[in-house]
Amino acid sequence: MPSFLKKILTPRSKTPPKAALREAVTDAIMPLLLRDKSVGRITPLVQINDNNIAMISLEIDPQHASVLEPLRKEVAHIAERTAGIDGAQVVLTAQTQATPDNSAAQKAAPAKAQPASGAQQSLPHVKNVILVSSGKGGVGKSTVTANLAHALTQAGKTVGVMDADIYGPSQPRMFGIEGQKPDGSQGHITPIRAHGIDVMSIGLMVDPNAALIWRGPIVQKALMQLLFDVQWGRSDAPLDYLLIDMPPGTGDVQLTLAQKVHIDGAIIVSTPQDIALIDARRGVAMFEKTNIPILGIVENMSTHICSNCGHEDPIFGHGGARSEAEKMHVPFLGDIPLSAQIRADSDQGVPAQVSEPYQAIARHILDRQ
Ligand code: ADP
Repeated sequence: MPSFLKKILTPRSKTPPKAALREAVTDAIMPLLLRDKSVGRITPLVQINDNNIAMISLEIDPQHASVLEPLRKEVAHIAERTAGIDGAQVVLTAQTQATPDNSAAQKAAPAKAQPASGAQQSLPHVKNVILVSSGKGGVGKSTVTANLAHALTQAGKTVGVMDADIYGPSQPRMFGIEGQKPDGSQGHITPIRAHGIDVMSIGLMVDPNAALIWRGPIVQKALMQLLFDVQWGRSDAPLDYLLIDMPPGTGDVQLTLAQKVHIDGAIIVSTPQDIALIDARRGVAMFEKTNIPILGIVENMSTHICSNCGHEDPIFGHGGARSEAEKMHVPFLGDIPLSAQIRADSDQGVPAQVSEPYQAIARHILDRQ
């Protein structure tokens, strides 16, 4: 089994309890921080004593103590369920000065507060990290990701594609690299190079059906490995763009990425129908909440062009995403026709011959940077 898999499939109990606990505590805090910015900074200090009792202090702004009481209880609950931990004491402490009773956690804590382990990291050799997302599946998000990557490459940029769609990875098919195995022998995972683009997907590491049963923590670990254990660019050859093909919706993967890695912007792909646009609106709201800049909306399957006679037929309606973008005050990046050629090319794992709509989107992205 590749070391990558060994790592992500390691049961939680084999992780040193302190590291596992710190991670679990951070995971409990981050959603709250993202939801409610008004509570300010929360710095967890985690210690485990000789009797395997976790002593955790959450450094907070004292004026938010009552609002954060449920979080304190939740952290205690999480700690008690962590493998290797026999009990937990969790206290809220003031950020600026110690509380008079000097709790056990504070005594055990190092003098200086540690930065929260969930802090965002940058990918050292990537200049721009861009999420490609959609409110619902099947709107062509993966096809847009792959063809936008080709368009950026044609514009002279170095590009990587990371497939974060853990439950339905399709980039191996889009790039015609299904069944290929990335090399992990150099201490990092080397992405597969296809059509001049560095590609990595969970679908290249495991049977996609195996990933279907993965839940929260293991999905997070897989994502972190895809980001930080894969050689995305090198110091002498950085990537201009890493496009991340997101799973549909606004779930755990979105939240994990927003917390853990610096993101430069998000593109939302939608079809013109109202039903897809409702979900696209949710996506916009989520990115706004997590402070990820929205680069704009793409309308896919905008109008059908008959491959025989060239007649245009707006099967799903037309222009819905453009007017929705205007309403939400986010840029409209362009529309892509519903084209049998686009589908055939993506099925065959080659760049779309209908390339101009993707190039137009690439120009927007390039202009913005
Ligand atoms: P998602 O990532 O949103 O689930 P995909 O990119 O996998 O969607 O696309 C779903 C299907 O639609 C694929 O078969 C793909 O080839 C096809 N498709 C995507 N965009 C177009 C388009 N503009 N015209 C025709 N077929 C398309």
